[in-house]
Amino acid sequence: MKSLLLIFFCASIFVQPVRAQQESASLIQWYSNLQRQAIDETIEKRLKEKQQDLQQAAEMHDDSARIFLLVESGMLQAASYKYEEAIDVLLKALNQADSDGSTIGQFYAYLSIAHVFSETGNKEKGLQFLERADALAPGLNQSDHLAFVLNALGRAYASIDSIADAFESFNEVLKLKEQLQYPVLEAEALSNLAQLYRRQKDYTNSLDYFKQALTIQRRERKRQEEGELLNEIGALYSMMNNRERAYANYKAALEVFQRIDYKKGIAEAYNNIGEYYYDQRNYAQAIANLELAAMAGQAANSKEAMLNSYEYLSMAYKALNNFERALHYKSNQLNIRDLIIEEGNNQKLLEKQSAYALQQMEVEIDRLERVKMDRERELAEQKRIQRYLYGMAALGIVIAVLILYLYLLKRRSNKQLKVINARIEAQNVQLQTLNNTKDKFFSIIGHDIKGPLNSLTSFSGLLINHFEALSKEDIQTVARDLDKSLKNLFTLLNNLLEWARSQTGNIDFTPAPFDVVEVLNQNKELLHAQAAAKEITILHEQVSPMMVTANQQSITTVVRNLISNAIKFTPANGVIKLSAEQSGNEVIVSIADTGVGMSNTVKEKLFRLDAKHSTPGTANEKGTGLGLILCKDFVEKNGGRIWVESEEGKGSVFYFSLRN
Ligand code: ADP
Repeated sequence: MKSLLLIFFCASIFVQPVRAQQESASLIQWYSNLQRQAIDETIEKRLKEKQQDLQQAAEMHDDSARIFLLVESGMLQAASYKYEEAIDVLLKALNQADSDGSTIGQFYAYLSIAHVFSETGNKEKGLQFLERADALAPGLNQSDHLAFVLNALGRAYASIDSIADAFESFNEVLKLKEQLQYPVLEAEALSNLAQLYRRQKDYTNSLDYFKQALTIQRRERKRQEEGELLNEIGALYSMMNNRERAYANYKAALEVFQRIDYKKGIAEAYNNIGEYYYDQRNYAQAIANLELAAMAGQAANSKEAMLNSYEYLSMAYKALNNFERALHYKSNQLNIRDLIIEEGNNQKLLEKQSAYALQQMEVEIDRLERVKMDRERELAEQKRIQRYLYGMAALGIVIAVLILYLYLLKRRSNKQLKVINARIEAQNVQLQTLNNTKDKFFSIIGHDIKGPLNSLTSFSGLLINHFEALSKEDIQTVARDLDKSLKNLFTLLNNLLEWARSQTGNIDFTPAPFDVVEVLNQNKELLHAQAAAKEITILHEQVSPMMVTANQQSITTVVRNLISNAIKFTPANGVIKLSAEQSGNEVIVSIADTGVGMSNTVKEKLFRLDAKHSTPGTANEKGTGLGLILCKDFVEKNGGRIWVESEEGKGSVFYFSLRN
C-alpha cells in the first residue's frame, strides 16, 4: 500500500517532476514542492487531473490516496488564490483523515489549512493550525515531519514578532539534524536563523548561518536555493560595506541561476550587480546589468524585479544626464508601481472576500474538531469500559482459579482426612480386637487351666490325705497320673499362648496331616479324671486312624474345649461320645453328651463374641462364655465349620468339619 502510494505521488508530482524523481521522494519533499509552487498556466490543468485521480481513488475505495489528493488539490487552489475552495477541499481531507484515524493525513491537512490561513493574512489562525500539526508530528515515525512543522512554526512566530519562539523552533530543527532524511530541512532552519540574526543586525552570525545553509543546499544540488542564498549573502556583505565580496556573491548567484535558467533569480542577480556598479558610480556597467535585469524580470513576470531595474536605470541615466532615458525608465517604474499597487489591492480585496468565507469555515472546522474530540472521548470511554471488562474478566478468572484451587485443596484434604479416618477406624478395630483378645486370653486361662489344675489338686490331695492307705503301686499310678496331667497342662498352656499369638496375628495356622482319632483319644485321656469325678463316662471306640490336614495344636484345643463343656453341662451318670466320620471330602468330628441341652435362644447366642452367653455347669462350674468362640475361631482358621445340634433336657452334639 505504502509503495503504491509513493508511486502514486511520484506520478502526481507535476510541480517539479524532474527534481522530485531525482531525489528519493519523501512525503515532506512532495509537500515542500507543493508549498513552493507558483501560479502559472498549468494550474487549471493540474487541478482537473487531481479531480480525475480523486474519482479513481473513490472507485478503488483508496481512502489514503484520497486524503493526499485532497491535500494536493487544496494546495493548488490556494496557489491560485482560491482560498475558499482550498479550505473546502482541505476540510474534506481532514474529515477523511479523522474518520480513517490517519494521523499523517490529519498532519498534512492541518499544515495545509495553516498555510491557507497565513496566505490570507490570518497569522493567528495559521499559527493555531501549525501548533496542531506540531502536536501530531512526534507520533509520525519520521523526524522530517517534526522538522518541517518546526520551520513553518518558526517563520510564523517571526511574522508575529515572537522572536524568542522563532529562535527556539529553528534551533529544535538543528537538534534533529542527525535524524533527518531530507537535509534541506536543516538548511532551511539555518537560513531562517540567518534571517533572524540579520533582523537583529547580528551580521556576523547571520553570515555564518547563511554559509552553513549554502553548504548543504550545494551538497543537495538545490540550485535555485543555492542561488537565492548567494544573493542573500551578497546583500549581507553589502550591508556590512564589503562591496567586493557582495559583488562576488551576486556574480556567483547569477551563474547558478543562468545554469538552471531561472529567470526571476537572474533578474535579481543582475539587479544586485547593477546596484553595485551604480554605487561605484560606474553608470555604464550599471545600465548594462540593469537592462539585462529588466529583460529577465519581464521574462519571469516579476514586477518587483522590474520595478527595481527601472528605478535604478532611471537614476543611472539621470546621473549620466540622459534625461530622456531617465524619464522613460521613470515612467516605466511608475507604471509598474501602479500595477503592483493594483495587484496588491486586488489581492487585498480577494483576501477580504475570502476572510468572511473563511470565518464561516472556521465554524465548520471547530465543529469538526468537536466531533473529533467527541469521538475520541467516546473511543477513550469504550477503551475504558473494555479495560474494565478485561479487568473484571481477569478478576473472574483469578477468582475461579482460586475457588478451583481451594476446592481441589479441600478435596485433597478431605481425601487425606478420609484416609486418616479409615486408618483410625482400622486402628480402632484392631484395638478392639486386641482388647477382646486380651479378655479372651484371661478368660481362657481361667476356663482351661482351672480344670486341669483342679484335677492336679485332687491327685496331690489324694497323696497327702490317703498316703498311709495307698500301696506303693497306687502311689506310682497316682504319680504317673499326676505327671500326665502336668504334661497335659503344660501342653494346654502352650496351646493357649499359641492361640494368644494367633489372635495378635503372630501365628500361622500352617496345616499338616495328622490322625484326628489320636487327638480325640489324647483328650479323652486328659479329661478322663475330670469326667470320672462327675461319674461321667467318655466313650470313644474308634481305633483306625483318620487323617486330616490342619493345625494339630489348635484342633487339640478345640476338642478339649468341647469335651470340657460336655462334662460341665452333663449331670452324673451321663455319657459323652466322641467320633470322627468321613463325609464326602471332609471329616466330621462330633462330641455328643447326654446333658442339659439348650434352648434355641441359647443356641443363637453361641459362637458370638458380642453375645457372650454363659451359664454355670451342673456342678455349678463357672464359665466365661468364650470357649466356643475360641473353638469357632480355630476351626475356621483351619478351613472348617462348627455347629451344634441340641435339645433342652436331652443333650447336645457339637460338630466340626476338617479337610482330609
Ligand atoms: P463357658 O462354658 O465358659 O460358659 P462356653 O463358650 O464354652 O463358655 O459355653 C458357652 C455356653 O454354652 C455355656 O455357658 C452353656 O450355657 C452353653 N453350652 C456349652 N456347651 C454346652 C453343652 N455341652 N450342653 C449344654 N450347654 C452348653
